[in-house]
Amino acid sequence: MGEHLAAGPRSRPVGASLGGAVADSAPDGVSGVDGADRPHLLGMLPADLLAWMQQNGVPGGITEARKVLGHLVSTGEPHLSSMRLPVSKALSAAVHSRLDHQRLEILERFVDPADKSVRYLFRHPDGATSEAVRIPLHKAGRYSVCLSSQVGCAMRCAFCATGRLGLQRNLAAWEMVAAFMTVRDEVRAENGGRVTGAVFMGQGEPLHNYGAVIRAAQILSDPCGGRISADAITISTVGLVPRIRQYTAEGHKFRLIVSLSSAIAERREGLLPIAGKWSLEELAEALREHQAAAGGRMTVAWVLMSGVNTGPEEAEALARLLGDVPLRVNLIDVNDARPDGFRRAPDAERKAFMDALQVLRAPVVRRYSVGQDQRSACGMLASTWAPPTAEEPA
Ligand code: SF4
Repeated sequence: MGEHLAAGPRSRPVGASLGGAVADSAPDGVSGVDGADRPHLLGMLPADLLAWMQQNGVPGGITEARKVLGHLVSTGEPHLSSMRLPVSKALSAAVHSRLDHQRLEILERFVDPADKSVRYLFRHPDGATSEAVRIPLHKAGRYSVCLSSQVGCAMRCAFCATGRLGLQRNLAAWEMVAAFMTVRDEVRAENGGRVTGAVFMGQGEPLHNYGAVIRAAQILSDPCGGRISADAITISTVGLVPRIRQYTAEGHKFRLIVSLSSAIAERREGLLPIAGKWSLEELAEALREHQAAAGGRMTVAWVLMSGVNTGPEEAEALARLLGDVPLRVNLIDVNDARPDGFRRAPDAERKAFMDALQVLRAPVVRRYSVGQDQRSACGMLASTWAPPTAEEPA
């Protein structure tokens, strides 16, 4: 979710009227993604590489598969051809010649002088572009990476630039992993820093590209992959009920955040059109099930828009809807630099809403949206976003 770009180690997302027009899962994109002629190493877990080796008569076992992926992904060797793989010549030759390992091209890099976040614009092998954002964490030298899951997005949230693009295609797992690796490797090279978290809150609705996002998250948390703790990986969703249920049933350990932004059905449907596909009660029940299975607090994100969703009636509606579920509420200011008319809530309005939310007896945390100077903040992640016109606020 492009509107899912806020700061802090964890953060959020953000809609026209889709009704039933959006499928629960988007079709896969173009060639060059997982499943293409040359499987991509960055989209593989050790067991996948082992299966490929066995199918193709390549000698070696799971230990060798782990060595190859550990060397390539964890170590971050950018050019496979220059690697001296710590495995047999036969396996090394097969990996070199029959598996893809290309990375993404960095088209542009924007550094926000205020918060030091960095927005990356990547070009993919088919010419598509996507974005990722490097987010500095409180601890010096530590970063999180906000990753895109799709090119464009089908959800059309009212306050999101990405939603205006429509869905162009899904990203493959390897493309998300490659974006992560590029950011991680730059952090390492610049200052010896470490990327300790990842959030799927860039362009796209992650659960609309369910399989590839889960695969990418698994690779990022694998000892031979990104080596990030699973609970430091956050997947954000606008609330695709069947996919939330699937996620819960599969028992993944990544953190799930649901962008609510309103607990009043008609209002929420106006902000997040996909909300019209399932009732708020259905969504609440899925969240209840998830919290019961995962334990801890269920995090809901709320994009604050002045005069839209900051009134006491929203706090009361949220308490009625989910008051029985241990919650954490992440508040994210909508970015002010936008042409859609939504405006950031003044301090007094935000404070009054936070006070009203005390009825939940739950932690209410204000998350800061990074990259506001560089169009990488909440609702601003659209790689083809046109420059503002004279009529639009810049
Ligand atoms: S339109 Fe898509 S990318 Fe934007 S906030 Fe909604 S789900 Fe996220």
